[in-house]
Amino acid sequence: MQNKIKTLLIDLDHTLWDFETNSKIALKEALSMLDLLDQIEDYDYFFDVYEEINTSYWAKYRKREIDRDKLIIGRFEDTFEKVLPNARGCGLRLNDVYLECMPRQSKLLPGALDFLKYASKKYKIVLVTNGFRKVQWQKIYTSKIDQYVDHMVVSEDVGVPKPSPKIFQYALSCANAKRTEAIMIGDSFEADVMGAIAMKIPTIYFAKQTKESFESDYLLTTTVDWDAIRNLL
Ligand SMILES: [Mg+2]
Repeated sequence: MQNKIKTLLIDLDHTLWDFETNSKIALKEALSMLDLLDQIEDYDYFFDVYEEINTSYWAKYRKREIDRDKLIIGRFEDTFEKVLPNARGCGLRLNDVYLECMPRQSKLLPGALDFLKYASKKYKIVLVTNGFRKVQWQKIYTSKIDQYVDHMVVSEDVGVPKPSPKIFQYALSCANAKRTEAIMIGDSFEADVMGAIAMKIPTIYFAKQTKESFESDYLLTTTVDWDAIRNLL
């Protein structure tokens, strides 16, 4: 693979940026700023409930079943409904404060920074990420990985999220890369892997569950392990 690949297309959340840890800290900060944290008995439980609801809202958003407003408000209102009824109606406000707190967090997944330092000398690095422009850019500045990145393509800028082929097409054109000379690295089977395969771009998939893996010339499966990726390339 090593001579052929010139461009790495890399997902940001859960792949480089430790979304789980960072969002848990940020939401706690946001709840505290709105004086809601004291009303929550068990923050770990609150966060688990939120996370499950948030995941289902993002899945609907990716399928374009709901719009951005429904996503950002609904995920918190549904959580309040279940575990903090007193806070109903605060969803939009909490979302605003949370989105301010979240990109100020800087935790990266193990090995991610070293990998980028190494890979940026050998490859063009294009981040391909679903999310909001301002938020995603602040994340890469705060975690100081912007210096290793040639381009970042955010779904809000392109108008459609992964797995739409349009966003991968746009990412390739940013790097002036041929699809056979690029590889997509990500943690979402639906967004990263299916999207790239539809464009005949090879993929490396950080599989959370092995049952999600399947046979394909274009698919390599590994758990989140940046050292393994380095050896693979
Ligand atoms: Mg991801």
